[in-house]
Amino acid sequence: MMNTSQRTAFVKHVPQRTCVACRQVKVKRELIRLVRLPGGRVEVDTSGKKAGRGAYLCRARECWEMGLKGGRLEYVLRTNIDHDNREQLLRNGTNLL
Ligand SMILES: [Zn+2]
Repeated sequence: MMNTSQRTAFVKHVPQRTCVACRQVKVKRELIRLVRLPGGRVEVDTSGKKAGRGAYLCRARECWEMGLKGGRLEYVLRTNIDHDNREQLLRNGTNLL
């Protein structure tokens, strides 16, 4: 028989992910997912469910700028993000903040 604290712990179990820029672990829904599409282009995944290698960033402009400019996102996603793609990500991502 479960006591109240065990039941609460079970209910509160939610997936957590790490922001690739600031490395903070957060609840998945507080982060925005980026996905590498077949072909190497990277897109903001608003559904959070697209197939492909994914990475997460906080809903904070600093993290988008740090993640996109520092090359960390490219490292995590194992791809090269060109200038256009980078601008598009920054625009689409920061629109969601
Ligand atoms: Zn962050």
